[in-house]
Amino acid sequence: MDHFLYHNGALYAEDVPVAEIAAQVGTPFYCYSTATLLRHYRLFDEALAGMNHVVCYAMKAASNQAILKTLAEAGAGMDVVSGGEYARAIAAGVPGDRIVFSGVGKTRDEMRAALEGGIRQFNLESEPEMEVLNEVALSLGVQAPVTVRVNPDVDAKTHAKIATGKSENKFGIPIARAREVYARAAQLPGLRVVGIDVHIGSQLTDLEPFRLAYRKVAELTRALREDGHDIHRLDLGGGLGIPYTRSNEAPPLPIEYGAMIREELGDLGCEIEIEPGRLIAGNAGIMVSKVVYVKSGEGRDFLILDGAMNDLVRPAMYEAHHDIIPIIEPEAAAEQRPYDIVGPVCETGDTFAKQRMMPPVAAGDLVAFRSAGAYGAVMSSEYNTRPLIPEVLVKGDQFAVIRSRPTFDEIINRDTIPSWL
Ligand SMILES: *Cc1c(COP(=O)(O)O)cnc(C)c1O
Repeated sequence: MDHFLYHNGALYAEDVPVAEIAAQVGTPFYCYSTATLLRHYRLFDEALAGMNHVVCYAMKAASNQAILKTLAEAGAGMDVVSGGEYARAIAAGVPGDRIVFSGVGKTRDEMRAALEGGIRQFNLESEPEMEVLNEVALSLGVQAPVTVRVNPDVDAKTHAKIATGKSENKFGIPIARAREVYARAAQLPGLRVVGIDVHIGSQLTDLEPFRLAYRKVAELTRALREDGHDIHRLDLGGGLGIPYTRSNEAPPLPIEYGAMIREELGDLGCEIEIEPGRLIAGNAGIMVSKVVYVKSGEGRDFLILDGAMNDLVRPAMYEAHHDIIPIIEPEAAAEQRPYDIVGPVCETGDTFAKQRMMPPVAAGDLVAFRSAGAYGAVMSSEYNTRPLIPEVLVKGDQFAVIRSRPTFDEIINRDTIPSWL
């Protein structure tokens, strides 16, 4: 459920007509709903009720300061994967002890910044990283709280580019080697083992892969405790999928996910951390774009939009589907026609949808890409020198621009000319 609905024939973001925002900020732009963000955060929080838990929002899904602040004020912690994200989380007022640091390539500088600014735990992904964190922590005279991310070798049954829990993926250490790696961690005076971490992929539409992975984590918890490690925290990653089409997909609900966690891990007495990103932000955002031209090609018609793959790369990168709807509600009886919906970028990959059935659309009409809140704005670029598009946050009947569109001068002036030119 989200808060982008038609009222009286027009698409609204909560209580604001999308056309009104477009008139003020121009197209294309991203628009987020506060109520949807909070609703999704609370669904996870409630799903884990009764267990000691923290929901650490995976902020790589959508990391605008206003989004982080909205979620942090509701009680969310953050999962960060870079020094930049760590700095963003701190800037949004998230306390260090609610920030977990994931990622396979943490640098010494990133480790130092997080140890100095405060951190809940590092999720370690390799032995070399473990040795380096130990050195950095000792150089600062502190102990770094750590989990080791284990790779349980389960098939997440999701898109290959976002599956992370198979043995051939670059993430974590093979679960079969975990005891050995934890033994080494226990020898390093700069580290303090607090638990285990696992994250098997994104956009999972079935609970079974999670269940298999968590079962292996439960087994490992017992084994590591036998080895003398103080395992009291389990970070279970993110990855719960969302319905990208309203018709045929019904991924498991957070409440079902929570019940499964309780079943598999509830008797271990561990604090549970989860790191959802997509399910919190995905359906909380739309991208609004204008039809620039309707072009008739040979045997097919194209809708050429002012938004492009640099603004929303998911279709080009993952063959992802987004529902695309006009912001004026079509008549129920309106006849639909197939269009290829494309952006203006000079790449054939700049195609949002092929042969998509759409009601009649004309140049100048606005359309909304649904479910664009996660991995949308954060993955955008200025390819073709197209300015990063604005982000807008709606709350009830209010809206605010939370990132403005840069001018061409601002873009150009980021370049510098060497003295010899
Ligand atoms: C990307 C990622 C997440 C979030 O995944 P979603 O599918 O957006 O929920 C959580 N944890 C880690 C370590 C990640 O890399």
